Amino acid sequence: MSTPPKTYKIASIPADGIGPEVIQAGIEVLQTLSKTLKTFQLDFTHFDWNSERYKSTGSYIPEGGLEELRKFDAILFGAVGAPGKLMQWVPDVPDHISLWGLRLAICQPFQQYANVRPTKVFRGTQSPLRNCNVGDLDWVIIRENSEGEYAGQGGRSHRGRPWEIATEVSIFTRHSVERLMRFAFETAQSRPRKTLTCVTKSNAQRHGMVLWDEIASEISKEFPDVKFDKMLVDAMTARMVLNPASLDTVVATNLHADILSDLAAALAGSIGIAPTSNLDPTREYPSMFEPIHGSAFDIVGKGVANPVATFWTAAEMLAWLGEQDASAKLLEAVENVCERGTITRDLGGKSSTKEVTTAVQEEIVKML
Ligand code: ATP
Ligand code: MG
Repeated sequence: MSTPPKTYKIASIPADGIGPEVIQAGIEVLQTLSKTLKTFQLDFTHFDWNSERYKSTGSYIPEGGLEELRKFDAILFGAVGAPGKLMQWVPDVPDHISLWGLRLAICQPFQQYANVRPTKVFRGTQSPLRNCNVGDLDWVIIRENSEGEYAGQGGRSHRGRPWEIATEVSIFTRHSVERLMRFAFETAQSRPRKTLTCVTKSNAQRHGMVLWDEIASEISKEFPDVKFDKMLVDAMTARMVLNPASLDTVVATNLHADILSDLAAALAGSIGIAPTSNLDPTREYPSMFEPIHGSAFDIVGKGVANPVATFWTAAEMLAWLGEQDASAKLLEAVENVCERGTITRDLGGKSSTKEVTTAVQEEIVKML
């Protein structure tokens, strides 16, 4: 007798800007995949936690919200960030409030300490780099997601005075760096090239960054089969552009990896294709999956948002839930559609969000 398909409970938080458009597309594609494969089911619950809610109630997450969220198998997240009223760069909810009010308010209590950001050049898309072909740029950037430069520690004194001081304290603990580094080595070990590059700025920052370097060397001894090197973050940006094929898995701090992964997504063709997983590797809490891009208010409602980042995000979520086969099939369908030229304008195409979504759904049905 065959076992009934497993049902996963997924919390969806589309939030702001193009978040609702791409999450809707992602859910449609996931439902097609589930109906076609019949090996798993997804039960979605939607949460309207967004900047509108913050503006009317003073909080992104209602009381008891995190306890409710904890019961899910995974969280599918859109993007957070309010639009600017006057100019795009002056949002009516400051970015540091929206980020800390929603995204980090979930990542931190749920111990999602490993942020995983894969990037590659898809068949049918093009890197802005000359001589960078499919296969040359295929990276996973692992970002420390619980402390470092975004620990939220610091303060301001003498506000408004000429001698005003603001401090922004980075915190690096042995516990957090060790667990992240071990996760990074395991990720590198699971990939064909078995190569890990540890990025710091340990020539100029002589405490936390030196601790990172030391721990990386210590943990590397547990993984003799992984080729390991260290880079300074400034030199790393040049290496990503000049020699993309020399890199595979990269581990860096919260701030450095945030910047490097935007660069990586742009080098792979567009910020509209790359996913992010916020993982609790202990699996005590649900992990959260989101496209790397933000709320992008300049294209809201125009039907042009690239849904590929959300499709890849959905594939990463399936793999984390143990549905590796479904995950691989979804990615293959997306790549086939790109290769046939059904791509949005950020990738140089003309297709709308809806057209790409429908094409991926049709491809799934055709493939399976
Ligand atoms: P955040 O402040 O959260 O980073 P943002 O509004 O600055 O959000 P980003 O996601 O950083 O927007 O994106 C920068 C620009 O890239 C957007 O203004 C938009 O033009 C483009 N962009 C982002 N995501 C997509 C997408 N999925 N499809 C097409 N273009 C996108
Ligand atoms: Mg931005």
